[in-house]
Amino acid sequence: MGKKVVILGGGVIGLFSAYYLSKAGHSITVLDKQNLGTSSTGNAGMIVPSHVTPLAAPGMISKGVRWMFNSTSPFYVKPRLNSDLLSWGWKFYRAANQKHVDNSTKALRDISLLSKKLYQELSQASNDFEYEEKGLLMLYRSEKVGQEEREAAQMAIDLGLEVEILDQSGLNQLNYGARTNALGAVLYKSDAHLQPNKLMAFLRSELDRMKVEFVEISNIQAVETKVGRVTKVVSEKQSFEGDEFVIAAGAWSKELAKLADESIALLPGKGYSFTIPKMENAPLIPTILCEGKVAVTAFQDEIRFGGTMEITHVRDQKINMNRVTGIVNTINSFYPEISMTIPKEEEIWMGYRPCSPTGLPYIGRSSKYSNLIYATGHGMMGLSLGPATGELVNSLVSISMKYQDLCSRFVHNK
Ligand SMILES: Cc1cc2nc3c(=O)[nH]c(=O)nc-3n(C[C@H](O)[C@H](O)[C@H](O)COP(=O)(O)OP(=O)(O)OC[C@H]3O[C@@H](n4cnc5c(N)ncnc54)[C@H](O)[C@@H]3O)c2cc1C
Repeated sequence: MGKKVVILGGGVIGLFSAYYLSKAGHSITVLDKQNLGTSSTGNAGMIVPSHVTPLAAPGMISKGVRWMFNSTSPFYVKPRLNSDLLSWGWKFYRAANQKHVDNSTKALRDISLLSKKLYQELSQASNDFEYEEKGLLMLYRSEKVGQEEREAAQMAIDLGLEVEILDQSGLNQLNYGARTNALGAVLYKSDAHLQPNKLMAFLRSELDRMKVEFVEISNIQAVETKVGRVTKVVSEKQSFEGDEFVIAAGAWSKELAKLADESIALLPGKGYSFTIPKMENAPLIPTILCEGKVAVTAFQDEIRFGGTMEITHVRDQKINMNRVTGIVNTINSFYPEISMTIPKEEEIWMGYRPCSPTGLPYIGRSSKYSNLIYATGHGMMGLSLGPATGELVNSLVSISMKYQDLCSRFVHNK
């Protein structure tokens, strides 16, 4: 018999959890603080089995420290004397080693490939969200970064992914659409992309059709518990009872965990994007401009540029124009025939990547409450890992063995 499941958060993770749970016959209520479908929309839309290296990796500490002193750099940690930041930083420091990378790559590859397979199935039924398999091009301009990219490519090749290492002439032979002065590139043929605004609208309409209940709340005020179980969550006007509860509130999941007297290490990685009509010489393959960590994705009619990662807190909603200028400078430095101007502040989308210090998501049951599940911490890969996370959450609720093994690899120290 189906269970009553309450999902806290209606971003891409919450909606995919609702989708697979509802398909399995459970009765679902999704609670969100804002207009549903407005989060997870402005990201770059990349589906990235290529991203097998977690955020916490050797070299990231020194790179991060160097970047921190440059106001246009892609990575920034807002310095604060705050226990959440100190504890996150310490866990990040402890995880930034080769052993952690070796333990994580296969798990990331497997969850990514499962997600891609689920996206393929979804898009075969109805491709309202512009799913396409054109790969991902990592472009670089300096030999030093080229060397790092080739090493990363080798790791992906060793893991069985289809990867091509291209020099300048190989790059010129691609049907890329745009002229670039990059020195070379790595093409990950495993990767895909889609239009995130359309994906979120598609999911919402599917869930409406499946009779999933959506409730807009101003906040969750309490999580009530009794003998090792969550009994209800209480908002300002209503309370919600259920057999199972899923915390999928992105960067805000930490606040909800606190209401249940649990602690998860999670901080928002703020980033920006802007979207303009697709120009004639638009790059046709989704691309990351490596030196500036800028993502470029051409959709059917538009092109989106996104980047920067500021480790901050959820009350920090400021758009930092210095960082946006850094994105624009990177675009202009890679594409001599595109002369991008700095967008107006109101044209910029801002979003939070829910970052765990290890770079792995949290997908699993709470250690304190037997009917509470966490599905968060996907950092820069939430859209990519959405469908697989939804299936893993369903596997936990439905007590199915299908994805239990994969699931067990994402239950790590919170
Ligand atoms: C510039 C940029 C580019 C990116 N590009 C990519 C990409 O190409 N590929 C990729 O895979 N990922 C990408 N990402 C990351 C991706 O967008 C995130 O990982 C993803 O959106 C996280 O989804 P989520 O559902 O966990 O959280 P969110 O999308 O943040 O959703 C969380 C939801 O919880 C709600 N909420 C908050 N508090 C409460 C509460 N108390 N009760 C109930 N609900 C609450 C919020 O209103 C929100 O709707 C990018 C991110 C940025 C910033």
